Amino acid sequence: TGTSPSEKKEINGTNGQLDLEASHVLHNSLISIPPTVVSAEGSYVTFGTGRRVLDGCTGAAVAIIGHGNPEVLAAVQEQMSKVSYTHTVAFTTPVAEALANEILQGNPHGLSRAFFVSSGSEAMDSALKLARQYYVEIGQPQRTRLVSRQRAYHGNTVGALSVSSHVSRRAPFLDALVLNNVSYVSATYAYRGQLEGESEEEYSARLVQELDEQFQSVGPETVIAFVAEPVGGATAGCITAPKGYYQGVRRLCDRYGILLILDEVMCGSGRTGTYFAFEQEGPGVYPDLLTMGKGLGGGYAPMGAVLAHEKVIRGLQSGSSYFVHSHTYQAHAVGCAAALAVQKVLRRDGLVARCAAKGRWFEAALNATIGQRKYVGNIRGRGLFWGIEFVQNRATKEPFPPALRFTWKLVDEAFRRHLSIYPGAGTADGFKGDHVILAPPYNASDDEFEDLVRLLNEAYDAVE
Ligand code: PLP
Repeated sequence: TGTSPSEKKEINGTNGQLDLEASHVLHNSLISIPPTVVSAEGSYVTFGTGRRVLDGCTGAAVAIIGHGNPEVLAAVQEQMSKVSYTHTVAFTTPVAEALANEILQGNPHGLSRAFFVSSGSEAMDSALKLARQYYVEIGQPQRTRLVSRQRAYHGNTVGALSVSSHVSRRAPFLDALVLNNVSYVSATYAYRGQLEGESEEEYSARLVQELDEQFQSVGPETVIAFVAEPVGGATAGCITAPKGYYQGVRRLCDRYGILLILDEVMCGSGRTGTYFAFEQEGPGVYPDLLTMGKGLGGGYAPMGAVLAHEKVIRGLQSGSSYFVHSHTYQAHAVGCAAALAVQKVLRRDGLVARCAAKGRWFEAALNATIGQRKYVGNIRGRGLFWGIEFVQNRATKEPFPPALRFTWKLVDEAFRRHLSIYPGAGTADGFKGDHVILAPPYNASDDEFEDLVRLLNEAYDAVE
């Protein structure tokens, strides 16, 4: 988080304190050591000093059923006692098959196969490769281009970063390790993108028109896929799409034979109140490839997945019948066991429905409290996935200058009050994000939700 060095020292305390020289882990920052977490349970994370912090963002929107769930722990232990690892390029396991069946039951939206990996970035790279190979196999090798959006974040591996718009994460690698066959269209960012007097339908139609023009300008027959997060997360701060946008996008993709890759690494697994976020985008919307991560393993194991539509599978079957991509740890048995147990808890406890219901309460509570404050420009999101954007002037929407970003101060003050929230990040469209993301566990108690809203407001008061 953006916790200051003095704060980190205090959090680490005597028990948890690590000197810079004593740590041989390559932390992202080479000038300070992040606070040491020693345990986590339910909606709380505990540091070396004993300080317990309410996990208002489940790390990076990961721990969807909270920490330390005994059923997941038991499932992992049982799997380890059977088989921890087998080379899943050559073999399969009952638990990987069971996880695929659990996620794909009823063949939702034509999605018929799951490729399991160990992170969201791997899922995105796998999806890009699967999409490209599909066209090679069906005799359209001229399709070499990808179209993505501003304010997108799809991961840090070379492929995933290439379709992202995260300025600072891309900058050092641009000329060397970022693919240059990607072009961008506008994000669905109503707060700054929707024109005055423009209806939601008109805004939606304008965005779809822009995508059409982008396809036309590069030659639609050269495009492999359009890539989008149904609800834009890390870089975008929970931006949703205007009504009809994804229906228009789907129609365009169908017209030109372009694949639609939806990235639900952050917004999926029930976080928006439906298991798949795109399910709220209207009839007829479906992805050709869908990526999952974060909530899939719920933080109990590093898990990601690509779900493939049967059309893509049939395409490969009409050719080589072999996906030219694999990882040593793909479909890792213990990872699959953890993810399967998380899915079972989700289903048994009705947690996706709780996410939707509690999300409505959360939205109202945020709007009624912090939403009324001087520097809060926009609150947006869905389910239990909310972004708050800060501006120095609500009327003009003028952002704070980079050195005075509200986000970092708020994240620090929240932490001081034992609340963890997720800071926003830089984007490619000339505006550096000044927002936080709230993404609590779906099964946080009503009291914990009340605490989250209260602590957030107290932190805001300390900054303003
Ligand atoms: N896609 C989205 C939408 C994400 O938010 C992220 C991570 O924040 C990723 C992909 C990459 O996932 P990972 O960090 O697990 O590689």
